[in-house]
Amino acid sequence: MKANLVLLPGDGIGPETTAAAVAVLRAIATRHAHDFVFTEHAIGGCAIDATGAALPAATRAACLQADAVLLGAVGGPKWSDPATPARPEQGLLQLRAALGVFANLRPVRVHPRAAALSPIKPERLAGVDLLFVRELTGGSYFGARTRDAASASDECRYTVVEIERVLRRAFDLARGRRGRVTSIDKANVLETSRLWRETAVRVAADYPDVVLEHQLVDSMAMLLLTRPADYDVLVTENLFGDILTDEAAVLAGSLGLLPSASLGDGRRGLYEPIHGSAPDIAGRGVANPIGSILSAALLLRHSLGLESEAREIEVAVDAVLDANELPRDLGGQAGTQDITAAVLAALAHSH
Ligand code: ATP
Ligand code: MG
Repeated sequence: MKANLVLLPGDGIGPETTAAAVAVLRAIATRHAHDFVFTEHAIGGCAIDATGAALPAATRAACLQADAVLLGAVGGPKWSDPATPARPEQGLLQLRAALGVFANLRPVRVHPRAAALSPIKPERLAGVDLLFVRELTGGSYFGARTRDAASASDECRYTVVEIERVLRRAFDLARGRRGRVTSIDKANVLETSRLWRETAVRVAADYPDVVLEHQLVDSMAMLLLTRPADYDVLVTENLFGDILTDEAAVLAGSLGLLPSASLGDGRRGLYEPIHGSAPDIAGRGVANPIGSILSAALLLRHSLGLESEAREIEVAVDAVLDANELPRDLGGQAGTQDITAAVLAALAHSH
């Protein structure tokens, strides 16, 4: 298969972790005779330095032509002064809007060795395999805001179209997994949540093979920590998703392990590890590249339809976490290159 992949390494540890993911994608391409063409472009702080814009026109145009985009991270202290006119994070928001991505996927699996670092009891973490689907374009992030001396407001608004498309994504994804969707809302209080719940019930009628369950966001926050292994696909609106996905990341033991995908209507997607640019460790070769490598696996699965290749990467990462020296964020001594080399070796030994 031929694929046009755009790389946006960005700032901080982004170039280091992205290079690791590219090495893994190249190995997969060689092994399966795929033709992956990589083109690198600037985004975030490094783009501001080079062009004055966080999302240069050339970057935006390249991403709109791509089959998929692999991003490192954006931002850092150099660009965090509020007086700076252009902000690195704006580049990412503009890119998401340009690509029309509305569903943010965050799979959370818990490897037994990493589980030891989680604050949750290991027996509760056995078998955790969650897929969060967070709505990315609506809700209080994008509503009208008001402010006067004595009050402030943030409008939370959702259209049926926005709710339905992200729910359909969640149901479609559940079909390829364990067939369970948990829809999270606050329907006992919020009108947007009542619309969300009604829409979920209506969409579920088209998926008789998928089991739909509703949870209120407050009880879900508790259940994630007490019974995380009971859930499969969890779908929710923008703000609830922001909060719950950070909570869920704690289950995995380290930020450095977790990938994400942002998808729209078609197959094209934006893939990035959930961690930030980690300026405190940038350039030292110690960043854990696994979040980025697993993001490359999601790219193969969701944008290129290469499920077995995606599984090969995930199995290789599990083998490295089983047997190898761990990276620093998991209490070991292995550097970025060590982990990358170990994943490549595990891939070479797989069938
Ligand atoms: P952002 O605002 O971009 O999300 P942040 O400051 O919230 O950034 P990170 O940049 O993700 O968060 O860093 C949080 C902490 O986790 C830092 O101490 C960083 O060194 C560590 N960290 C993040 N990613 C990794 C990684 N891949 N490997 C090792 N440590 C990491
Ligand atoms: Mg952060």
